[in-house]
Amino acid sequence: MSRCRRQNPGLTVRRLAIKYYTHGRRDQLQVALTFDDGPNPPRTDQILEILEGRGVRATFFVLGKWVERFPQAFERIVARGHAIGNHSHLHLTNLGDFDRAEAAIGNLLGRPTNYLRAHYFNFFTCLHSPLALSPEVKIVDADVNPADYAKTDPQAIVEATLNHPSLAGGSIIDLHDGSESDDAALRLARPLPMIRALPAIIDGLRAKGFELVSLDEMALVDPVAWRYDGRGTFATEELRAAIASMGALEE
Ligand SMILES: [Zn+2]
Repeated sequence: MSRCRRQNPGLTVRRLAIKYYTHGRRDQLQVALTFDDGPNPPRTDQILEILEGRGVRATFFVLGKWVERFPQAFERIVARGHAIGNHSHLHLTNLGDFDRAEAAIGNLLGRPTNYLRAHYFNFFTCLHSPLALSPEVKIVDADVNPADYAKTDPQAIVEATLNHPSLAGGSIIDLHDGSESDDAALRLARPLPMIRALPAIIDGLRAKGFELVSLDEMALVDPVAWRYDGRGTFATEELRAAIASMGALEE
């Protein structure tokens, strides 16, 4: 009996070689703060100051295009000892340009990144990328998504984080220190409410008994095998051809 599932006209999917993590060990009182879409000076530096002041190591999922434009800001993240992840180069909906981003990141970091986060959690873009499909790289989602980017009230971000129904030992919390937008004013404005919320988020997590760690310090467990779920689309014939040529799809 065929196990093939017809997901999309003309595209028969049996196995997709993507798995991703949403959390670490649940029996550990650890949580991980992650920041997406930077580096974004001086907002990222404001976050680094708060983290430094409270002795917190975090993880930054950076965009290759911002690493190229703001190399010193990126190096300041690295110098403070935070973990680094790859969040694509251009942050375009249907493009998995993680390898291009890795070139920019690795050039400054001096080593490969260990973590990758699909932009918009469009996991199908990982099928575009040899790096994303490499066993050396862990694809990391999050189980606590306070949607800080869509909130202007710092207290609402604090509450959306601390009262999130998924918050538990091993949680990975998704925040944003930047934006994919080329509009500098938007990019500088968007993280401000989260920055105002961050001290209370850190203090509140600690008051609940959690230790804040970087992903390097967290044992990721229970990977999810990705299945096409309607998030994003196989938009172009070029993308389909690229996916098929990598053998990630079985007809
Ligand atoms: Zn993003």
